[in-house]
This record gives sequence, C-alpha cells and structure tokens, in this order.
Amino acid sequence: MKPAAFDYLVADSIDMAVASLAAAGAEAKILAGGQSLVPMLNFRLLRPSILVDINRVPGLSFIADDDRAVRIGALTRHHQLETSPVLAKQLPVLHEAMKHVAHLAIRNRGTIGGSLSHADPAAELPMMAMLLDAELQIASRSGRRTIAARDFFLDALTVDLANGDIVTEIVLPKLPANTGWGFEEVARRAGDFALAAVAVTLTVSGRVISQARIAMTGVGATPMRAAAAEALLIGRALDPSALGDAIGSVRGVVEPNTDLHASSDYRRHLVGVLAGRAMAAAWRRARQEAA
Ligand SMILES: Cc1cc2nc3c(=O)[nH]c(=O)nc-3n(C[C@H](O)[C@H](O)[C@H](O)COP(=O)(O)OP(=O)(O)OC[C@H]3O[C@@H](n4cnc5c(N)ncnc54)[C@H](O)[C@@H]3O)c2cc1C
Repeated sequence: MKPAAFDYLVADSIDMAVASLAAAGAEAKILAGGQSLVPMLNFRLLRPSILVDINRVPGLSFIADDDRAVRIGALTRHHQLETSPVLAKQLPVLHEAMKHVAHLAIRNRGTIGGSLSHADPAAELPMMAMLLDAELQIASRSGRRTIAARDFFLDALTVDLANGDIVTEIVLPKLPANTGWGFEEVARRAGDFALAAVAVTLTVSGRVISQARIAMTGVGATPMRAAAAEALLIGRALDPSALGDAIGSVRGVVEPNTDLHASSDYRRHLVGVLAGRAMAAAWRRARQEAA
C-alpha cells in the first residue's frame, strides 16, 4: 500500500521544527530515518496530515565524549553508533548491541532518537537507554526539558512525549571503574527484532559486586530493568548460588507475550538463559578490569 496524502515540511532549525509541530498539533509527525514511520504510513496505521522532516536540522548528529558522559545527538544514525571509536572505548556494551539492530540498509538511515521515540518493545536502543541510565533532552515550544529513560517508556510504542516534543540529545553517563559488561540476544534471523535480549553491567569492589544493572527487551511491553535481581547480587561474588538466584528473579518478573515467533514460556526460559550468560561475561570482564 501507499501512504495517505500528507504535507511535507523540511525544517532547517529546531525552532522551525517545534513551531511547525505546534501549529499542526496532533496531526503532525516527525520524520527522522523513516525506517519505522514510513512502513506505518504505508500500512495506513498512521495518517498524519503533515510530516516535519528534521534530517536537515544542524547540530543533531554527533557523538561527544565528555568528562562524565557520552552525549549523542538524536539524528545520529545506527551505523555511526556501530562504527564509533568513542562508543567502542567508553560504552562497549552499547557498541556490541548495535550489531544486533536490523540490517545495514536500515542502520544507515535509522536514528537513535527515532528508535527511542518509536519504542518498539523488542528494540535494543531503548534497552540500552534503560541499562545505562540515559537522560533524554527534549525541545518543545515551551522550552527544553530532560527526562530519565526510566520515566520515558510508558507502554509498547508509547513514550512520554507530547505533540510537538522533539528528542534532541541522549546523555549516557560513563560507567564506573572496574565494570564489566555482557550482552546476549536471540533472534530468529540476524537483524530481526529480538525474541529476547539481556544486557548486564557489573561493577566489582574487592571480590564482590558493588553495582549491578540488568536490562531486558522482548519480554514485556517496554524495556525493563530487573531491579530485584540487581539488588540480590550486591555484596556477593557471582558464584553458582548468586547466579541461580538472579536468574530465578529475572524469570519471575517478566511477563512475555506469546506470538507467532515464540510462546510466553519459551521467552521466560530464554531470558533466564541469556541473563545467566550476560552476567557471567560481565563478571569475567569486571574481574579482568579490577586485576
Ligand atoms: C525490517 C526492519 C527491521 C528492524 N529491525 C530492528 C531491530 O532489530 N532492532 C531495532 O532496534 N530496530 C529495528 N528496526 C527499526 C529501526 O531501528 C528504526 O530505524 C528505528 O526504530 C526508528 O528510527 P528512525 O530514525 O527510522 O525513526 P522514524 O521511522 O523516522 O520515526 C519513528 C517514530 O519516532 C518519531 N521520531 C523520530 N525522531 C524523533 C525525535 N528526534 N524526537 C521525537 N520523535 C521522533 C517519529 O515521529 C515516529 O513516530 C527495524 C526496522 C525495519 C524496517
């Protein structure tokens, strides 16, 4: 199918984009990489009266290595993240995750701002934003605001953005010293959305875990952190007992859907297996860092 007719406006500044979006109200959609929006238009799941194209807005495509955080412009393409030496060095878990996002043609166009705003329940970047305690900077007619990733994802394909809001930047705090990471995903084919994926960071102090983060995607309406599993790892080595406790806790909090690709029970089992592997990898890397 082809999309319903729409007007098309190319914004050349954030001010122009927010003014155009505010004027059009709920009828407007932002066009970034178009990799999720255009299929939805073609299927007529969406019928906006106007698309505001932000691809020519300057200053939205960058990866900056600051003292405490890596800052990423919302229009930064997936392929730029995948090939960024800054991410490979500072946030290798995100760098690894990018290998699992879609196919090269889609990664060449898709943007981090588009992926977070679209909020597919099996996407990798929303999970990374949760794992890394990201903050999103938003521009709108009424000014600028910052929102934490943990407050941003409300439901499947639903985020805390009002009409006219534009995500401009994603701020990812750097990880503490002596932190290791693990990333595990299963998809039916390379480049497909995840059946389930888990990302972990573990920080060690002496011989025990001092900080744990476990994020999951594909097993609920939104990406999620396994807060209870994280808490029960603190102060322990990742021995078989701690690993088993955390895997059990992870399986206990997810409520995966059954769909054409996998049953709920299969996904629940899978997320535990992936969490176990990701925790083991993170523990190994953290101990190497600390040695
Ligand atoms: C075949 C296929 C396979 C895919 N596989 C994967 C996968 O495995 N993993 C994965 O994570 N993704 C996957 N994707 C999705 C891909 O990553 C998309 O690029 C991404 O989800 C959306 O980014 P975009 O820049 O293309 O956004 P667009 O399609 O342009 O926009 C998506 C939505 O976000 C809004 N939006 C865009 N930018 C902003 C902004 N800055 N501020 C506010 N709202 C904004 C738009 O209005 C729209 O509602 C796949 C897509 C396809 C077509």
